[in-house]
Amino acid sequence: MNNNENYLIFFPVCILTKGYQRSVILDLQRAILDFIPNDLYEIYMNHNKKKVADILQNYDTQDKEIVTEYIDFLVKNEYAILGTQHDAEHISELSLKYNFCGKITNCVCEYSKFLFENMQTLLKIIDEKLGCSAMQIICKETINMAELSEFVQKFKDITFLNHLEIILPYSHEYNEKNVNTLLLKNFIINRLTFYSAPFDEIKDLKHTFVIYLRENLKNNKCGIVDKSYLTQNIYHVTEAHHYNTCLHKKLFIDGNGNIKNCPFSENTFGNILNDDIEKIIKTASFKKFWRITKDKIKVCKDCEFRYICTDCRVFIKDKNDIYSQPSNCYYNPYIAKWKGEDGYITVEEWMKPDTAQ
Ligand code: SF4
Repeated sequence: MNNNENYLIFFPVCILTKGYQRSVILDLQRAILDFIPNDLYEIYMNHNKKKVADILQNYDTQDKEIVTEYIDFLVKNEYAILGTQHDAEHISELSLKYNFCGKITNCVCEYSKFLFENMQTLLKIIDEKLGCSAMQIICKETINMAELSEFVQKFKDITFLNHLEIILPYSHEYNEKNVNTLLLKNFIINRLTFYSAPFDEIKDLKHTFVIYLRENLKNNKCGIVDKSYLTQNIYHVTEAHHYNTCLHKKLFIDGNGNIKNCPFSENTFGNILNDDIEKIIKTASFKKFWRITKDKIKVCKDCEFRYICTDCRVFIKDKNDIYSQPSNCYYNPYIAKWKGEDGYITVEEWMKPDTAQ
């Protein structure tokens, strides 16, 4: 290790989160994550930007060796540097303030004849008035190429919207040539997903992804929390520190124009043709779940993934407790194991008096 007169300085883009068994260090810039012991988390909390010699003074001989190894690990993996006092004084912290100027970030719409006919009206509100940046259109029935092309044309005058995903059933009409023509004429489409396809494939066309899935959309996967669904970017992490990542500034419009929080929520707050969406999204009932962060949710508050995991407030373990854990989570933070890993038991099994430690 280097000179003990140097200062241990964690890179500001590295976010550490403590869980029950272990912590994670997440580098937002490189989008990489490492598991670290909780002791190392404590070093971050207590000794970031301190002189190495002063840090080591807090430990006995045996622990000094471990702390030295921890510091080597941080430096070798570029989570921290050993810098000068000047560096320590001038490297500022990353703000975890959540910033998004639009009133809605994501809108999911169910494709229907109604939506087709009223899309321009809806887009005027969603795009211009609400400043929504991402939209997902879900088609439950097959639509032909001509209809899809005409539908996508309705997006030609959008202002804020910069991400459009269309999810639709596969049909033989969507061959490579037709799909490429559609995408080249409509750069607004960032992702085109075909379900019930004869094969699984992801095509990266640089400006867009075309995804073919054998799976049927009817196999509801909403609310599933799995290793592959963790989101390691600053927008998600800052939102997760202050708001519910599933429902905060999210909107769902069903095939009849009804306004909801998400495709699976029971409450309807009005209709896009008769009611003022701008007023609806300001109501306390529409925003009921917006402030429920993972820090407030049972079990999740003890989980090291809580700022990179998307929540679900519809499929939860206890319908009568809005603070209960998502029912489709397959992780047990008390033993740090995902379902399928050796030794996995559910949180409920772990909590039985003869099992918990
Ligand atoms: S316990 Fe909570 S925070 Fe952790 S992975 Fe499951 S749902 Fe996400």
